[in-house]
Amino acid sequence: MDVIYTDNNATTKVANEVIEEMLPYLGEFYGNPSSMYTFGDEVGKKIRQARQKVADLINATPEEIIFTSCGTESDNAAINAAISMYPEKKHLITSAVEHPAIKNLFSYLGDRKGFRVTFVPVDTKGRLDLDTLYNAMSEDTAVISLMWANNETGVIFPIEEVAQKAREKGILFHTDAVQATGKIPIDVQATGVDMLSLSGHKIHAPKGVAALYVKKGIKFPAFLIGGHQESGRRGGTENTVSIIGLGKACELAKENLELMNTQVKELRDYLESRLLSEIPATSVNGDTKNRLPNTLSIGFDAVEGESILMLMDRKGICASSGSACTSGSLDPSHVLMAMEVPFKSAHGTIRFSLSHYNTKEEMDVIVETLIPAIDKLRQMSPFWKDGKMI
Ligand code: PLP
Repeated sequence: MDVIYTDNNATTKVANEVIEEMLPYLGEFYGNPSSMYTFGDEVGKKIRQARQKVADLINATPEEIIFTSCGTESDNAAINAAISMYPEKKHLITSAVEHPAIKNLFSYLGDRKGFRVTFVPVDTKGRLDLDTLYNAMSEDTAVISLMWANNETGVIFPIEEVAQKAREKGILFHTDAVQATGKIPIDVQATGVDMLSLSGHKIHAPKGVAALYVKKGIKFPAFLIGGHQESGRRGGTENTVSIIGLGKACELAKENLELMNTQVKELRDYLESRLLSEIPATSVNGDTKNRLPNTLSIGFDAVEGESILMLMDRKGICASSGSACTSGSLDPSHVLMAMEVPFKSAHGTIRFSLSHYNTKEEMDVIVETLIPAIDKLRQMSPFWKDGKMI
């Protein structure tokens, strides 16, 4: 199917190089990596290489990498481990704009498990309220979990600074780097984070494979009790083919990091400036000075994001809206609400998230599609009169 795919924060195309790397292990090399014979260890060797490649992308060591099934599993495993390591501590800190993998887990722990949870607010540009965060830290805090970069706006949080403060106070620090990985440099040693989640399907590996980094020395308990796999922390025969794919994807992500911050960023900026200058009453959500290079969250006043998506879909353009669509609601997402984005533009927000597979021609098609589409929707909108929002 011919599509213009600009929804890479939702998921990505599996890179051809990744598919090629995986295929022999789907067919010919089917041995169990734990077997004693050479045929099995062919796979074992490949998994060790993949672990090294994942570690290399974030400047960790292979022993610090646990393979999991998704970013959500990595996030849950990290937080549950933190809680069980400090059973006497009953306070948790996160932000108001996390992905549901953290947000809903923290709400559950607060509502059902007796934890006191601080959801640190953000300002209108999506920047973290550091005073509230630092004032909330206490001896009772078991873990702080903050996303490295926001999936909707791309806004980047000051992870190194917060990790250092957490370290000074002796509080475990986890970061959900599912969106940051492969888009900005990540160095777990330089930043000093204790745990970090990343997910394969956001970086051109298949869906269903991810990783959790756990800093050496942390007494991380087993979360799938079974065999000796993943150093006994996550038992169960490995998802060999996908892990091999994740390794390759991490190698490519490292190679492509510069491309992401030059070519992809330029495309995003080009799309943004054309949309802002050619469609009136349009605004960008989030801190444009400190954002992922591939992400654009843009609000069109007086129209519904879902209607825009439908009109773009007719041209094969894939993007996301800024509504809380996962909950079946057309309300703006919790991220846009936390940022207090005015209702008029929050409702008409679209997220474009690019990859190095996108082209300038595709950006032109998006703009040429949106100019008449937004105009048409505004003609029908009860909130639009005489060229402006009423
Ligand atoms: N964290 C963030 C910031 C995300 O954007 C996502 C997915 O969109 C996840 C976690 C969950 O990752 P997965 O889909 O691999 O469970």
